[in-house]
Amino acid sequence: MTCEECRTALSAEIDGEGTGQGARAVRRHLSACAGCARWLDACWALEGLLDAAEGGR
Ligand SMILES: [Zn+2]
Repeated sequence: MTCEECRTALSAEIDGEGTGQGARAVRRHLSACAGCARWLDACWALEGLLDAAEGGR
């Protein structure tokens, strides 16, 4: 799995679409790739900011 594939699957997961059958490969990539792990942290932080900005949904 490439970083690009990993991040595409992760952004779907953050959007609540799930990573589907690639989930296991995504986790394996994350544990081996510090770049994607950091990217995911940043995405969750951003998602939290967006939720806060939107108020109660
Ligand atoms: Zn990566």
